[in-house]
Amino acid sequence: MANGNKSAIAKRLDGVSESATLKLNALVQAMRARGEDVINLTAGEPDFAPPEAAKAAIRKALDENRNKYTPVGGLPELRERVAKKTNAQQPEVVSRFGEWKGSDVVVSNGGKQAIYNVMMSLLNPGDEVIIPAPYWLSYPEMVKLAEGVPVFIQSREDRKFKIGVDELRAAVTPKTKILILNSPSNPTGSTYTKGEFEAIGAYLVKEAPHVWVISDEIYDRILFQDGKFHSFLDAAPELRNRAVTVNGLSKSAAMTGWRIGWTVAPPELTSAILTLQGQSTSGINSLAQYAGVAALDLPEDSFTEMVSAFKRRRRIALEILAKAAKLKVFPPEGAFYVFLGIEAFLKEGEDAMQLSETLIREAKVAVVPGGPFGAPLWVRMSIAMDDETLKKGCERLVSFFTR
Ligand code: PLP
Repeated sequence: MANGNKSAIAKRLDGVSESATLKLNALVQAMRARGEDVINLTAGEPDFAPPEAAKAAIRKALDENRNKYTPVGGLPELRERVAKKTNAQQPEVVSRFGEWKGSDVVVSNGGKQAIYNVMMSLLNPGDEVIIPAPYWLSYPEMVKLAEGVPVFIQSREDRKFKIGVDELRAAVTPKTKILILNSPSNPTGSTYTKGEFEAIGAYLVKEAPHVWVISDEIYDRILFQDGKFHSFLDAAPELRNRAVTVNGLSKSAAMTGWRIGWTVAPPELTSAILTLQGQSTSGINSLAQYAGVAALDLPEDSFTEMVSAFKRRRRIALEILAKAAKLKVFPPEGAFYVFLGIEAFLKEGEDAMQLSETLIREAKVAVVPGGPFGAPLWVRMSIAMDDETLKKGCERLVSFFTR
C-alpha cells in the first residue's frame, strides 16, 4: 500500500500488500458482465453446505435470544470441545504433559485472526519469523503488521515443497522468534509426515531454544492419502510450552463465513492473546459459536462425503492435466488445490501474474498467480467446485498449455 509523505495513513501499513487476486477478480467480473463464460478456479473455500446440525444450532440459539456478549476466549463449551479435539490429535502431549483444557483455547474470528493474535502477542520490532515458501499469502503481511521481519526458506519441489533441518538451521538466527508450519499446505497441498515433524521438533529442542512454532492445521481433515493427519506437537511434545496449534472450522467443516478459528497455546501466551482480543474484537459472533459446538460434536463420518468429493476431484484434475506435457503438476496430499508450474510457458520478463491474466483472457479460466504465495513460477488452481466445472476448467487449461 502506497503511503506518501502527505498520507494520513499509518506507516504500519507501508509495504503491506492488498489482496493479490483483486485485479484478477475484477477482470473475471468484467468479462462475465460482457457475457463471456469464464471458469473460476480460484476458490479458497469448500463448495459444500455447512453441517445441518450447525445450522440447527444457530436457529435454536436465535430462537432462544442468545444475543449477549460471550466471554472473550469463546463459550466454555466451545473451548472445551476444541481442547478435546486437540487432545485427540496430540496423544503424545496428553500422555507426557496432561490434557489441554478449555482455558488453553482462544476462539477467534477464523484461523486468520488466531494467527494474527499470535504474531501480535509474540513479536517485538525486528523479530524474525521463518516462513517456508510457498506459503499462505497472509503470513508475511501479518508479520509486517506486527513489525516483525519475514525470513523465507525456499522449499524445493523435488522435496515435495517441505523443509528439512538443514535448511531450517541455515535460516535460524538469534533474532528468530517464530517458525510457521502449515500442513496440509495452502498452496501446495504438501503434508509433513510424523517423522519429518519429529526431526524439526528435535532440532528446535536441541539447537533453537528461543524459537516458537505456529502450526497452522486448518486443512487437517482434507487429506488424500490413507495415512492419518499429524499434528505438529504430537511429533514434538517437548515443545508444548513454545508451540501454538492453530485450527478452525472454515475448511474442515465448510464454515468459512462463520469465522470460527482458534489457538491452543501455553498459558502465558493464551493470556496475552486474551488481553489483545479483549481490547480489539472481543469474543466472536455468539451464533457462530453455537454452530461451532454442534460441528465439533459431529462424528468424523459426517464429513466423508466432502472429503471423498475432494479426492475424486483431485483424481479428475490430475488425469486431465497430465495431458499437458510441459505443465508441471504437483499432486497434492491434502487441502483442495493443485499447484501448477508454468515456467515453461513464460515469455521473457513475464511471471505468473501476467500469465494468469492471459489465461483469463484467452483460455477463459481463472487461477491464482503464485507470486503472493512466494512462488512466481507457479499458479494455484482450486478443486473446490462441482466435477463438471472442474473438468471443463482443466480441459481449457490443457488446450491452452498444449497449443
Ligand atoms: N491458514 C491457511 C493455510 C489458510 O489457507 C487459511 C484460509 O485461506 C487460513 C489459515 C485462514 O482461515 P480462516 O478463514 O479460518 O480465517
